[in-house]
Formats: sequence, C-alpha cells, structure tokens
Amino acid sequence: MNDILALARPEIVALKAYAHASWDPAFDRLHANELPWRAETDRSIAGLNRYPEPHAHVLAQRLAELYGVEAAQLLPGRGSDESIDLLVRGFCRAGVDNVIICPPTFGMYSVAARIQGAEVREVPLLARDFSLDSAGVLAACDANTRVVFLCSPNNPTGNAMDPGAIEQLLVRLSGKSLVVVDEAYLEFSGAASLTTALDRFPNLVVLRTLSKAFGLAGARVGSLIAAPAIVALLAKVIPPYSIPQLTIEAVLATLAPPQLTVQRERVSQVRAERERLCAALATKKSVTKLWPSVANFLLTDFADAEVALAAARDAKLLIRDMRNVSPHSLRISVGTPEQNDRLIRSLA
Ligand code: PMP
Repeated sequence: MNDILALARPEIVALKAYAHASWDPAFDRLHANELPWRAETDRSIAGLNRYPEPHAHVLAQRLAELYGVEAAQLLPGRGSDESIDLLVRGFCRAGVDNVIICPPTFGMYSVAARIQGAEVREVPLLARDFSLDSAGVLAACDANTRVVFLCSPNNPTGNAMDPGAIEQLLVRLSGKSLVVVDEAYLEFSGAASLTTALDRFPNLVVLRTLSKAFGLAGARVGSLIAAPAIVALLAKVIPPYSIPQLTIEAVLATLAPPQLTVQRERVSQVRAERERLCAALATKKSVTKLWPSVANFLLTDFADAEVALAAARDAKLLIRDMRNVSPHSLRISVGTPEQNDRLIRSLA
C-alpha cells in the first residue's frame, strides 16, 4: 500500500509536519497565545477565541461514518477545491509531471494543476454521449502522469461514468498514476460510491463534498477519501487549524440524524424537480437539446443561448453560460419549485 507514495513528490514524502500546539480540551490553554475571553458576539459552542482542533479528527470521524469508510482514509478540507489542490501539490513535480482531464468538466482540476506548474493534458469526453474515452486516457498517459481526474456525475454534462470503465482504468494505471473520482453530485444520482473499491485499488482517490446535497456550500467542507498513506501524506500539506470552528459545529449539527432525514427528503425533492424541469424544457421551442442528467443541474442547448440567458436575467435568475465548453449550451441548476416555474415561464 505504501508503494503509492513512490508516485508522490519526494520532498513531500520527506517533509516533517508542522509541530502544532498539543490538543487536550481537558486542560486550560496557556500554550497557544490566544485571548482567554470570548468576543461578546461569539455564539459558538467551543469559543472562537480558541484555535479549532489542529487536524479536525472529530469532524473526520463523523464524515467517515457518513461515507462508510475508516477515519484514516479521510482528510477533510475546505471544499473539494482544497482536496484537488492538495492532490496536485502532493503528487506533481512542477515542470515535470502532468495530469489528465476529460473536458467538458469542472474547471478547478486544470487551474490547480497549472498553479502547481503541472502540464494539463486534455482527453475530451466522447461527443455522442459525454462518456469516458478510456483508450484516449491511456494513450495520453506517460511515465510522468501523476493524476487522472474523472468527475462522475460530471459537471457540466450531468451524466455518470460507467464504474466498470473506471475500474479498468484503475487496473491499467495501477502503480503508475492516481485516478481521482470526483463524486460531488453523487447523492443526486442514487448510485453507489466508488469508495467500496478503495481496498482493491491503492491508486483510487474519491472526492465527496457537503456543498451540494447537504446544503453547506458556505461552510466549505469536502472529503478526500483514499488509502491511509495518501491521507497521511496530504495531512502534512494542509495547514493546521484549516477547518474553522464554526464550520465544524455547523457540520456536526447538520449531520445529526433528524437533520439527515430532512436532507434526504430535499435530495428526493431536487430529483423530482429535475425531472419536472426537464419535461417542461423539452416542450420549449428555444431548446434544441437536453442532455440526460443524474445531477442537480441540466446541460441544455438553445437555438440562441444569448436570448435564453437574457430571458432568465429578466426573470431575475442567473443560469450558467457554458458556451466556452459547448457552443450552444447553458447549465441550469435545479432550484425551488417557484424558481423552476419562473425559469420555465421566462423561456420561449
Ligand atoms: N467538484 C465538482 C465537480 C464541482 O462541480 C464543484 C463545485 N462546483 C466542486 C468539486 C467544488 O466543490 P466544493 O464546494 O466542495 O469545493
């Protein structure tokens, strides 16, 4: 299992982690140069005058339960955006290594790679149905390919990838590259997570987030789920105290069982609204193509995307311009029934 670290940047493997102040809530803290009093406006449970837990173990434990993995397999971060950044920083040597992305897809994979100085190789999804071009990915890989980013369900196309095709890639790239499967929208699809394959594939990394199905985008919490050796390596790269106390408290409250029931109902509601919105858009003359979606958004092609964008704006709705990835496409997030009705009314 530790062989996977042969793919990591040697200086990160050798790095000694920052020695943070010790953590023991049973003691009074005269060792971290904090103020001993709370701010008057501080309504947090633990007190914002205190640093949060240096590596958020309580949070990691709770998230591990949620996703059905061991705490040692999970690293919480400030959104999946931070998980993506940690992966390229930990595994890509600047000016030497490369990553593979499969456009059209989420933009942060290439941004994070470029910030790190890693080459970005593009292997487009197949035009007919946005499925994975496995042969193309393998052909684009070389000895310096450190990370292959896959997104399933994919943003912005909304389709899920065939788990069998992902497993084949994991086999072919075993010992050679990480395969990162970003499952940000998985809850809306009802499909099983690839985390169940972690024991078989040391090169698999799964990304989950609370920003979508759990309604906590503003709290910024994502989970990187991988072999414990990868988690331990990247825990040295993430700064200590990175998850704010208010976020930890918000997550623990939101993941309490009564709230989870509400969350599941909301996901069901989004799925029902997605189908309703889809059916209504299919009747619109301005819509030329609706891409099948298992996520909480619909990639939609319009005869005139400019006109559709303007119509939505007139109805005080923002929808996403995707013409940079696909010439006539806009991406519509599923909203409340009222917002969806307003959008449907606004379009010709
Ligand atoms: N992955 C995908 C596929 C996304 O679409 C997004 C957000 N749009 C993210 C990750 C980032 O999510 P987070 O809020 O967890 O950083």
